Amino acid sequence: MEEQSGLFQDSYILTNVNDLMNKVQSNSMWYLSFGLACCAVEMMQAASARYDMDRFGFMPRASPRHADLMIVAGTLTNKMAPALRKVYDQMAEPRYVISMGSCANGGGYYHYSYSVVRGCDRIVPVDIYIPGCPPTAEALIYGLLQLQNKIKRSNSIAR
Ligand code: SF4
Repeated sequence: MEEQSGLFQDSYILTNVNDLMNKVQSNSMWYLSFGLACCAVEMMQAASARYDMDRFGFMPRASPRHADLMIVAGTLTNKMAPALRKVYDQMAEPRYVISMGSCANGGGYYHYSYSVVRGCDRIVPVDIYIPGCPPTAEALIYGLLQLQNKIKRSNSIAR
């Protein structure tokens, strides 16, 4: 044990600031849950003890000013769209958006409704789309892991 601590004491790693920032951010994300309809129930399930998305570093935040990830879960109506944009604009940068479910991805079941936005990407930029009606909690967690990979590959300093 003593030998091991001596080994680490004299060791160092080489990296760059961008990779370090990406690693830190992707493993410590604060998400704002923008639950709009039935998909939000699966989002809550993913956060519960059974699936425990906290273990991947995703923690909920009540204020957009503290959040760097928004999960849009459900049907976005025309009436709600300005509020979605307003909340997104208040988030800290670099910020990310996950679109969860068919409704958020493209209007889904309500695609031809006069009152529904055909995809939340018409209002905010989306990084990850999760298909399904609703997607399972496992699918959301898979999407979160894909977002982590995307962040690790990105040039966050230039953003
Ligand atoms: Fe509800 Fe399906 Fe729309 Fe999700 S995709 S909000 S489950 S109708």
